[in-house]
Amino acid sequence: MKIDELNKRIKECRRCRLSETRMNAICGEGNLNAKIMIIAQAPGEKEDKEGRMFIGPSGKVLDKLLDAAGVRRGEFYMTNLVKCMLPKYRKPKQDEIKACSYYLDEERKLLNSRILVPLGYYGSRYIFQTHGIQSPSKAEFSLVCGRLFLAKDKKILPLHHPASLLYNPDSKQDLIKSYRKLQVLLKDCKWYPVCPMKRFHEEGKLDKKWIELYCKGDWESCIRYQKEERGEPHPDWMLPDGTLDEKLHKEG
Ligand code: SF4
Repeated sequence: MKIDELNKRIKECRRCRLSETRMNAICGEGNLNAKIMIIAQAPGEKEDKEGRMFIGPSGKVLDKLLDAAGVRRGEFYMTNLVKCMLPKYRKPKQDEIKACSYYLDEERKLLNSRILVPLGYYGSRYIFQTHGIQSPSKAEFSLVCGRLFLAKDKKILPLHHPASLLYNPDSKQDLIKSYRKLQVLLKDCKWYPVCPMKRFHEEGKLDKKWIELYCKGDWESCIRYQKEERGEPHPDWMLPDGTLDEKLHKEG
């Protein structure tokens, strides 16, 4: 199936009760070759009326967060977990997610973005579940926001939904900090070509997870990177999380 065909099906969809109250089912938008797919929860009223993604109040917040992160919408593909508006901004019901996530699954197959960025609890729970990762409870969701997870050939970065800033303006700095990870994930660590971790990995002495999670992932959180930036000496056998690996030391 091609994306145009999928979008046609989305627009005509009657798989759940939300089709009775919506004006428009909203298709994904953006760069079809994007490395990063952003997955929001569901369209709001303005999106429902005008048939476009993120054009209401949440979209304005999203643009400010992307701007603060130094990235642009055009660098991503954006879609929703549930394609139709949820009446009175209520939470999505389990059977609605079950019916509608078929489209998200198809989009994921068609685009093959290597990094999935679910916004908010429900999108994150679905993406975690479909990748065999233990999903946090709603109360613990903040603890995983902005943390990069590895699942086979995909990376997952859960973030707070931009709408959360409308209800909780005090969280602005935390959101800006976590959305900055989008810029980090668009490129590899600048030290990678000369980093001992690359050599250890190529020699089969280092698990690929270190490279994927840090060197080609969230390198800004790497202790080696931070020390490099401050000009502080550190041994070759120090792992990206700052622990010393004596096995690497001996095998050097
Ligand atoms: S280990 Fe750290 S410093 Fe080295 S390439 Fe990876 S992220 Fe960069």
